[in-house]
Amino acid sequence: MTNYSIASVKSRWILDSRGNPTLETQVKTESGIMATAAVPSGASKGEYEALELRDGGKQFHGMGVTKAISNVNEIIAPRIKGMDVRDQKALDDAMIALDGTPNKSKLGANAILSVSLAASRLAAKAQNLELHTWISKLYSTREILPVPFSNVLNGGEHAGNDLSIQEFMLVPLGLKNFSTAIEAVSEVYASLKTFVTKKYGPVAKNVGDEGGVAPPMSKTSEALSALEDAIQEAGYTEGEIRLAMDAASSTFYANKKYKIDGKLISPEELFDYWKSIIKDYKIFSLEDPFEQNDFASTAKLTKATKPLQIVGDDLFVTQLARLRKGVEEGAANALLLKVNQIGTLSEAVQAGLFAIKSSYSVMVSHRSGETTDDFIADLAVGLGTGQIKTGAPARGERVSKYNRLLRIEEDTGLAYAGPSLAQKS
Ligand code: PEP
Ligand code: MG
Repeated sequence: MTNYSIASVKSRWILDSRGNPTLETQVKTESGIMATAAVPSGASKGEYEALELRDGGKQFHGMGVTKAISNVNEIIAPRIKGMDVRDQKALDDAMIALDGTPNKSKLGANAILSVSLAASRLAAKAQNLELHTWISKLYSTREILPVPFSNVLNGGEHAGNDLSIQEFMLVPLGLKNFSTAIEAVSEVYASLKTFVTKKYGPVAKNVGDEGGVAPPMSKTSEALSALEDAIQEAGYTEGEIRLAMDAASSTFYANKKYKIDGKLISPEELFDYWKSIIKDYKIFSLEDPFEQNDFASTAKLTKATKPLQIVGDDLFVTQLARLRKGVEEGAANALLLKVNQIGTLSEAVQAGLFAIKSSYSVMVSHRSGETTDDFIADLAVGLGTGQIKTGAPARGERVSKYNRLLRIEEDTGLAYAGPSLAQKS
């Protein structure tokens, strides 16, 4: 009997924050130590993401995960039994080989990821290490507490209003540490709620999928101005809190036109639109400004708006090949790292480390459908990415990550990434 050898793997379904089933998988060592991990799920998914296996049919309106669960219990479990849980690469490679497809469509990226994450958590536990410490040892990275990119106002596919832009975020990079950054975000979020409720009535208190308010607005500038007012009202300065957006622009693109602010515009017009928004507001970061196949416009904007951070989410889908193309063409200068876009921890980290080597920034990210699993908090700290995006400072599945980071800060006293991020702007 060894401490590190995998004795059992067992998956079950639990509910995510949209009420859909998702996998939670438990892995145990021969000595009886166990760990679990749950898988998130996106709404504005990139076209090139690894496949999330759903049952189809009537049950859960087609969203069931019984096939994915049986793939874990019947196919993956016997293959990885007896393997050393500390060898993350060997485990992930074994599952990739077992699947044998380019997008994990046989076993499902959700099935594979649940095992990959649970195994790394178990490896940490079996060695008596915190997960973030284990991640930083495994990948030889330097730990740091990330700046939270907090999505306090929701639009696009995450809300029931007419805003095309999906996410309006606060970036508290001028605060002295992580806990004061979260305090600031919480205070501005409260001010924002008061502000929008006064202006739009009680309906504006309703929140979107990521916990941000979702007032009946229709223009990007309306949302950004509300954020500026809320920051000021809460007593913070531009130097302390900057703004960021995830346009998720593939969601409002069709027939070569983008629908934004009630108008249909061309990619060239959208380019000018971004340039003027960036000039008018203190935008620090802009994600997916053009649809997921338009590397050329993204590259042109990246060059024209330096040092603005341009993040590739649907553009790169956490995949090395697409990121390489981006680096070659100068499209974006940051990677959004979502573990479920690729389906194993090893591959997600490989993309992250390649980004860092290529002088791209990395922002670890949740999905709009989440559970209270806080894995990504440790991942951001352990990899030392300096940035995390995990929603509003509200709703259990969002605050579980912030709360984990607060505890890590108290336990470790690690430095906050704010000052180094501020230098980039
Ligand atoms: C995103 O687009 O960055 C996001 C978190 O949304 P989803 O999970 O719906 O893709
Ligand atoms: Mg996105």
